[in-house]
Amino acid sequence: MRRITILGATGSIGQNTIDLIARTPDAYEVVALTGGANIARLAQDARALGAQLAVTADPERLSELRDALAGSGVAAAAGPQALIEAASRPADWVMSAIVGAAGLAPGLAALQQGATLALANKETLVCAGALVLETARRHGAQLLPVDSEHSAVFQALIGEDMAAVERVILTASGGAFRDWPLSALQTASLAEASSHPNWDMGQRITIDSASMFNKALELIETKEYFGVDGDRIEVLVHPESLVHALVGFRDGALMAHVGPPDMRHAIGFALHWPERRDLPVERLDLARIGQLNFSAPDDARYPALRLARAVMRRGGLAGAAFNAAKERALDAFIAGRIGFLDMAAVVEAVLDRLEAEPGLIDAAMTLDNVLQTDHLARMRADQVMASRH
Ligand code: NAD
Ligand code: MG
Repeated sequence: MRRITILGATGSIGQNTIDLIARTPDAYEVVALTGGANIARLAQDARALGAQLAVTADPERLSELRDALAGSGVAAAAGPQALIEAASRPADWVMSAIVGAAGLAPGLAALQQGATLALANKETLVCAGALVLETARRHGAQLLPVDSEHSAVFQALIGEDMAAVERVILTASGGAFRDWPLSALQTASLAEASSHPNWDMGQRITIDSASMFNKALELIETKEYFGVDGDRIEVLVHPESLVHALVGFRDGALMAHVGPPDMRHAIGFALHWPERRDLPVERLDLARIGQLNFSAPDDARYPALRLARAVMRRGGLAGAAFNAAKERALDAFIAGRIGFLDMAAVVEAVLDRLEAEPGLIDAAMTLDNVLQTDHLARMRADQVMASRH
């Protein structure tokens, strides 16, 4: 029996993970499930899977969770510290599927207990790549990518020598506004930004796909996870979302990973690694699909990509600042306080301000410094947004 914990179990990735493990329940012992506001979902899954522990991130909802779990034998807990404790409970495999920088500390705790960490939470590597890799190394823990592009790159690299890698190409659907006139983007509504042409995901990553902040985070994630320089990582717009990534080698060969847009592939790959097992995903009929399209991303449409390249060149704690400013700008867009294009402008202004604060971006990458930079970037984002009105 493999002991499994799912952080962010009630979200899109979490539910897809549960879909896979629920198919062979006897193979898994569920240690902990965590969620946020959706107590009914969390309690129902914890009961159905016989979890030892269920944790909500929201301390105000503890009694609601306790009531929902009454008589089940599942322990209940709440709050950020309880999330870390859940991640610290001995487990063989931990899915990191919290959204945002809130996933960092629990993910580190899972690595510290030596668990294999299946990483959907890309923010973990964006905020603290060097710290996370060092923590995994020190504790002999395996870190596996779950983001579809990074799982694709990982798979294309099996049996290859990193020294033979010339470039990595991440594909991007182009998001909801790929074909919109540039002039219409600023007034794009929340509902319009929240619908993805190909993937069914959480709201925040869906909006980040429309702005390409998602691809921006993934550029940094690629650099951190695979140790490839930013100038050797390319973005290619591919509207069909069937080729997830390509790796270019020194002999000119490109190895592409092709599959349906279904996260259960990348989750299942990480669950069964190093084996490949049957997964309930669609088998592509390429003759029926007929053609695949590719084009270069338009820099004017997607300023987030330019910002990510500056962050990769800068290094240090710039990733933590970038992600936090983006999260805050996204909060404001979701709340209707700023327009769609304002998000990139706010992030750029925050990066400029933090760069001017001596020693900040170059401080040592400890968890405390990362969290402090995250906090400061959110404050600066609020100040930038207040000064724009
Ligand atoms: P989601 O919004 O559907 O789910 C997020 C989960 O995190 C929920 O369980 C929620 O309760 C929990 N959560 C939210 N805020 C929290 C907080 N402050 N503290 C603790 N828990 C909190 O998100 P998702 O789409 O499943 O994405 C999860 C992660 O996986 C993100 O980092 C995302 O970028 C990444 N990812 C998602 C997909 C996808 O297809 N959905 C693909 C690739 C990568
Ligand atoms: Mg992705």
